[in-house]
Amino acid sequence: MPVHTEPLRHLKTRTQQLPSTAERDKLAPQREQHALPELPIRCAACGHPLATPDDALTINGEHQHTFINPAGVVFEIRCFIRALGVSPVGASSDYWSWFPGYRWQLCNCGNCAIHIGWLFIAADDRFYGLICGALHDSGVHEAQR
Ligand SMILES: [Zn+2]
Repeated sequence: MPVHTEPLRHLKTRTQQLPSTAERDKLAPQREQHALPELPIRCAACGHPLATPDDALTINGEHQHTFINPAGVVFEIRCFIRALGVSPVGASSDYWSWFPGYRWQLCNCGNCAIHIGWLFIAADDRFYGLICGALHDSGVHEAQR
């Protein structure tokens, strides 16, 4: 028997062109990362690459969530462990947080500065919730079954 029998399922053939930041995100135990094709998820307004499907998370069993804000506006968001093309802005708040125990911070597109979602921050954890309608990608919907 050969010593190395693990197949190279996750071998990546393309390198990411996303801007690098010093973020160090941590995984919570209940999470599971999707294994989806490496098609970049872009800003729908300007085409700036924001994340990859490899960054997608399920939170409480779902990748996509629907919430309503205090003004009555409904948001559909998708959860990501990383979103290197996104810029968090302003101070964080725990007012009306959609994820109990997490504060939120507004996030804009790192290129055109349109509002793209939120960074959710707990004491030892953080993830991004990006607004479905603000994202453009071609690979995730077929992969979500
Ligand atoms: Zn943009």
